[in-house]
Amino acid sequence: MKTGVVILGSTGSIGRSTLRVLARHTDRFRVVALTAHHSADELDTQARETGASFAQTVKEAGAECLVEAATHPDAQIVVNAVVGSAGLPATLAALRAGKRVALANKETLVMAGELVMCAAREGQGELIPVDSEHSAVLQCVTGQTRALKRLILTASGGPFRDWPAERLARATVDQALNHPTWRMGRKITVDSATLANKALEVIEAHHLFGLEYDNVQVVVHPQSIVHAFVEFADGSVLAQLSFPNMELPILYALTHPERVADAGVTRFDPVAAGPLTFEPVRGTDFPALALGVGAGKAGGTAPAVFNAANEVAVQAFLDRRIPFGRIPTVIEQALASHRVQRGDTVEAVVEADRWARETAGAACS
Ligand code: MG
Repeated sequence: MKTGVVILGSTGSIGRSTLRVLARHTDRFRVVALTAHHSADELDTQARETGASFAQTVKEAGAECLVEAATHPDAQIVVNAVVGSAGLPATLAALRAGKRVALANKETLVMAGELVMCAAREGQGELIPVDSEHSAVLQCVTGQTRALKRLILTASGGPFRDWPAERLARATVDQALNHPTWRMGRKITVDSATLANKALEVIEAHHLFGLEYDNVQVVVHPQSIVHAFVEFADGSVLAQLSFPNMELPILYALTHPERVADAGVTRFDPVAAGPLTFEPVRGTDFPALALGVGAGKAGGTAPAVFNAANEVAVQAFLDRRIPFGRIPTVIEQALASHRVQRGDTVEAVVEADRWARETAGAACS
């Protein structure tokens, strides 16, 4: 029997990549449901090409269509590629229904990590990361004993890795969207330029792999070939390497713990990959990373506030309402004026998200 797959956010960058992967593996998988935010024409085409019987846009059918698709009775795997916090109810519903969630919506884990991990345990659902760094960690720890000691996530450093601080503050939208190694959606590309993306990933790693924050570190690696290092109790370090292409972690999230041959992959060539270099993060010039990790350590509703304030600030930057240098300031102000609450109910997390959007929105106007 073929495995039924649902894709939430199928017209975005990860959604399209997932469809390309699935088109090469029709012997194993069939697409049962697709959702998009608003691109109804593209969604219709995708549904026709894949034979998916369920295809709805949030714009026409409302946000409920995400949960309906995520709990589709014919689906075993839900690829959640929704952008931002809107993906949370679908992640929780799919996990409670015992499905595998291939998670590309990292905001879900950041805003409600405790809730999501709890939903996975209760419903016996599986949470498998699609993020390249977390896929790398999962690939390194699969088959190992649980003697995981430390993770080092790599960061490309984004387009502004070597820019001086004064120039950074005035970076334009076009410059921020010009990522050196990865082709991704607009929001995550800006997050890569501020390093807020890496903060989201540290929080994501903390929840997925159960490590304290001090044991999840970040190193800048401009070539984006090594996706993560994993250190074990005996001091040995494993790493996963591949050319930067999201189709590999997507396929692994679908087949884990199995590996299957894939005609779409570019064969790795260490000589073509060139010298691999590593450098420390310029934390003072990219304050979003420390702000996010601080929010993670504070716990409760703080990560939801970090995530929501960042989303609002990034949108304001993309709309050319605030300069690049103001993104971390908006986040910092929201976090500073937030009274951290427990984050173990949907209501608390949703309220913190709403409050942070309002607060950050006012700071951007
Ligand atoms: Mg990543």
